[in-house]
Amino acid sequence: MKLLSHRTPATAVVACPDCGAVQRIPALDLGDLAECRRCGRTLERSADLSLTVALAWSTTVLLLLFPANIFPLMSASVPGRVHEATLASAISAVWSDGWPVMALMLGAFILVLPFVWAALRTLVLAIVHTDWRPQWLGPVFRIEQAIQLWAIPEVLVVAGFVVYMRTAAQTSGHVETGGWCLIAAGIISTIGRRIFTAETVWQEILPEREVPVGASPVSCEVCEMILPSSHEGEPCPRCRRRLRLRKTDSLSRTGALVVAGYVLYFPAYYYPMSYTVRMGSVQERTIMDGVKLLFQANFWYLAVIVIIASICIPFLKLVGMSWLIVSVHRRADTHMALKTRVYRAIHSIGRWSYVDPLIVALSIPLLSFSGFVSVHMDIAALPFALVVVVTMLAARTFDPRLLWDVAEGRT
Ligand SMILES: [Zn+2]
Ligand SMILES: [Zn+2]
Repeated sequence: MKLLSHRTPATAVVACPDCGAVQRIPALDLGDLAECRRCGRTLERSADLSLTVALAWSTTVLLLLFPANIFPLMSASVPGRVHEATLASAISAVWSDGWPVMALMLGAFILVLPFVWAALRTLVLAIVHTDWRPQWLGPVFRIEQAIQLWAIPEVLVVAGFVVYMRTAAQTSGHVETGGWCLIAAGIISTIGRRIFTAETVWQEILPEREVPVGASPVSCEVCEMILPSSHEGEPCPRCRRRLRLRKTDSLSRTGALVVAGYVLYFPAYYYPMSYTVRMGSVQERTIMDGVKLLFQANFWYLAVIVIIASICIPFLKLVGMSWLIVSVHRRADTHMALKTRVYRAIHSIGRWSYVDPLIVALSIPLLSFSGFVSVHMDIAALPFALVVVVTMLAARTFDPRLLWDVAEGRT
């Protein structure tokens, strides 16, 4: 059986993507982990995972997404009437409620991107399983890597759980076929994110080359292949991304996105996220009102989830990114490992903030019983969703190696 941990040559020279330190990693035994000696980032993990298992896992997620996207996720009933929510009905309800941009964003994040992501991963693993190495394999895996941060099936599962608990408290709610498939896909893809190592797939696509010791290397920001700096400006031989020593205009782009995040943050929390029309009376709900309602209904654990995902994470991301930008500007050389860890956390947790817009989107088709009660998205939803998007983009445009460059006086 072909193992994903297989690597040639036996030792590899790598440049840490977070701090830029060039170091040599020996061949790893199964279960071993190689960490950056300077910032602690995991550089390579020897996964006890065969290509066949990785392919089976990825195919399972892909197959589960078909029923999850088609069949109802949940149902709610009052005497005489049953309402079901599918992903498509949640998105079209947001659209017909007058929020086309929100509907398009939700459609991309919960319907299209998870599906494209699982399909591309399955395709790449199926091809890597053979001896065929077409030219487009690297670029396709590059797209898969870019999409995976934006595909949020597990976030949708958490949002669905909150909606289900709230629904069950008011009417009778049931998880339906699509919901069970989505839960399974969410759990399997979360486990998969832990056991799957992109580095080993890159090695299968095109093994690392030896770079002469002492030659100042340039490292690909996508597949982390390192080449002599004379290759700067050329496409990476593995993923075709143009090789750059550092991300272009990283500080100014990140700064602009962080400022946009602060500007959007305040309307997102000040204005109502949704409103409910019940027997002719209108009740508006900001994110904080939603948290209070969950506490009052004794769902304190759901309230904590919403507080962490919707309030703490976006704010800490903005403050954290500001700290990193100011550090580079001031050429600070303290707390370097901590700053790099903060960057890594910001990069990976951002998508969890999508919980709140998803809660509203799923509630609209589920909890709207005509003539009795209807749920609608409100003015804060769009700035809130944009805060999540701009902070995720800011984490992508920021180059953490700049922190180390200025600390060491290299720029
Ligand atoms: Zn490092
Ligand atoms: Zn590359």
